[in-house]
Amino acid sequence: MPPSCQISFSSQSQSHACLKVIPLMAAMKQTATIHILGAGSIGLLWAAYLSLAGRQVTLITRDIHKSGHRQTVFLEKGSSKKQVDVALNTADKASHIDLLLVCTKAFDAFDAIASCAHRFNQETAIVLLQNGMGFQQTLIDKYPSQTLYVGISTEGALKTGAFALKHTGQGATFLGLIHGSKNNHKKICERLSCALSLQYQDQITAFQWQKLIINCVINPLTVYFDCQNGALADNPAAQLMKQALIDECRPLIHAQGLDSALHNIGEVIDDVIKKTANNSSSMREDVQQQKNTEIAFLNDYIVNLANTLGIACPTHQFLANYIQQREAQYESKNQHH
Ligand code: NAP
Repeated sequence: MPPSCQISFSSQSQSHACLKVIPLMAAMKQTATIHILGAGSIGLLWAAYLSLAGRQVTLITRDIHKSGHRQTVFLEKGSSKKQVDVALNTADKASHIDLLLVCTKAFDAFDAIASCAHRFNQETAIVLLQNGMGFQQTLIDKYPSQTLYVGISTEGALKTGAFALKHTGQGATFLGLIHGSKNNHKKICERLSCALSLQYQDQITAFQWQKLIINCVINPLTVYFDCQNGALADNPAAQLMKQALIDECRPLIHAQGLDSALHNIGEVIDDVIKKTANNSSSMREDVQQQKNTEIAFLNDYIVNLANTLGIACPTHQFLANYIQQREAQYESKNQHH
């Protein structure tokens, strides 16, 4: 993969010197409302930074008690603490949505979007900020007249209270069109420009795949070995599994003509592991907190795609099964309580 197509992650203190990111600061003040679906870590991150940049933002939350109110969002980054007011509403409102940032987990995206689809018209643009793959095509099939973008992001955010978050890793977001007309992409980038770095990418699929492979290695392996990201580097068994996971993806990616996504992928993953050494992966956190994981859109997506092409991916299959078994254990335990 050419250097300009590489994505990297950062730890809390790491700057992104290797990223060729152009901050797209809008020249003109944007007045139309940007709707953000999901008030979790990433939703609050974008809501806070866009509001600080003077954009009108409305957070769509499931909490009907907060609907119609304004809410202070508390943003912490290193020693800096900021507060910003945003509007809240629930999906069932009637007001039009022309730009929607979808910030739910991948398994919630379909239902969450459906809950506010009555507020779309043909001009509505939807930006999907989820990790993982598979659900995007389902959305394209369901909403063929909408313009759909994906945002591949290396930002790190952690929700610390109902409307409070820590910006734990300064990263970047690569925006790319996956369905519809490209005509408005500059305007969308301008509207989303704030202190979070954003870069438009014509070839977003290679970025999606690179991020998918990184997540398919780090997330399940940190659950399997029950460790922080950095410990994967010193674990020979984890290193062997990492290589197997990468090698199993090769024929899949080659079949799609996306070989650039694999360029230096081993080194790219090692770099992410190093820069996020003290982080506990989102999947490990989800398992520890007995929540749903995004495995269906990571290793399980790879396995299903491989099956359709008659390709074997035994290590992805093993880890997908392992994570699903862990989920099943606590789901059944929780059902009995
Ligand atoms: P999160 O903290 O769990 O937030 C997801 C939010 O979506 C929750 O607040 C949830 O609300 C809300 N939601 C779910 N269904 C909804 C619905 N129907 N209507 C309204 N809100 C709904 O997850 P996250 O960490 O922000 O991650 C979001 C996505 O970004 C994931 O795909 C993740 O992999 C990706 N990502 C995250 C990071 C990060 O640093 N956090 C970095 C890069 C990518 P409830 O509280 O009511 O359940």
